Amino acid sequence: QISSVADEVGCSVYAVGGFVRDLLLHKKNLDVDIVVEGNAIDFARRFADQHACRVRAHEKFVTAVVIFDDGYKLDVASTRTEYYLEPGALPNVEEASIKLDLYRRDFTINTLALALNHDSYGELLDYFGAQRDLHDKAIRVLHNLSFVEDPTRMFRAVRFEQRLGFKLGMHTENLLRSAVEMDFVQRVGPLRLFNELTIILNEENPFPAISRLEELGLLACLCDQWRVDARVKESFRQAQKALHWHELLYTGSPVERWVVYFLCLSQPLSDDAMAAVCGKLSVPQRWQDILVGERCRVMKVFHRLERDQQKLAEYRPSEVSQRLKGIGDEMLLYAMARTHSDAVRLAVSQYLTQWRDVKPLLNGDDLIALGVDRGPRIGEVLALLRDARLDAEVSSRQDEVDFVRS
Ligand code: ATP
Repeated sequence: QISSVADEVGCSVYAVGGFVRDLLLHKKNLDVDIVVEGNAIDFARRFADQHACRVRAHEKFVTAVVIFDDGYKLDVASTRTEYYLEPGALPNVEEASIKLDLYRRDFTINTLALALNHDSYGELLDYFGAQRDLHDKAIRVLHNLSFVEDPTRMFRAVRFEQRLGFKLGMHTENLLRSAVEMDFVQRVGPLRLFNELTIILNEENPFPAISRLEELGLLACLCDQWRVDARVKESFRQAQKALHWHELLYTGSPVERWVVYFLCLSQPLSDDAMAAVCGKLSVPQRWQDILVGERCRVMKVFHRLERDQQKLAEYRPSEVSQRLKGIGDEMLLYAMARTHSDAVRLAVSQYLTQWRDVKPLLNGDDLIALGVDRGPRIGEVLALLRDARLDAEVSSRQDEVDFVRS
């Protein structure tokens, strides 16, 4: 279908980047990036006219996102070249051929393009040795100034290296180490750094990449107090287990994996140091409130639970729920990863899987009909009813009515 539209608008169209790389590596990747040697917006609109989808165009960058009815998105860009006026700044952009478009990319393995027009369908463009480097399992930049132009590529290099099980090419690693030594990371805006870090922390198993960042001196560029010692390593391991367990629950509420790992990484940091690193990386305020404000309170709740662990099995579910109420999933999973107490872990898992969403069968209107005064009393009685349900003191609607009457 893309081929027909490409031929109609009379320009060459390619699939590029990670999709083609992963295709050659036999890895699943549903993120298809399309580039058009011409106007991407015209192409996207013509495509949308003929298919069940709509287009969100970005006139300034001449790019478009094609959004299908089922929510699937296809990114379409016009081939372009970029040049940098100063290190770390965003580039200036100009229209260009596919070859120049591929040359602006970060690593050779991301420079493959797969032709999609009918007459050239399936032809692989490989101008910069991508297939060789895929074969050698090497991450290589395209030119010596790559990390200077865009220091975020250093984080991307580590991410691809660890995710794919590749190795930085020797020259590329030397370039990276020099760029670290010259402190180029400090020229990057905090949001772009935060973005790179969260992408790494959202990987299935981010620990090897974090460890490699430390070894290359990149972790210290983000926060000079982050260290990868045995305790942090163990927290990452336990956090991965906790996240995997949570995923299998299919709670429907997705967790921000990066938050859990950010907490693991920041385990030894004081509240002040945590606030400083969150500020330096421009962590969004709602997450700063949790990472900085909540962490201390939640850790205290958990210390108390650990202190009481011998008696925890005798606690009523309403008591455990009362203590854990209002704590977000990310913080709960982090605390689960940190605790050494099986009893505490069990209590948290019961709270998450069975107790947290328990609600009374009666609602406010029912209580008013039963003669409860309007106002705060309604909330109080509903809370008592919920606790009674949690502790199996009531099970049916009639039990709840009797409970209210008594
Ligand atoms: P992932 O599988 O993690 O999505 P990807 O290769 O698709 O990896 P994206 O971040 O989606 O990576 O970027 C798409 C493409 O854009 C990359 O393949 C790369 O060629 C190019 N790219 C992205 N960021 C940069 C950058 N900072 N410098 C140069 N090229 C980049």
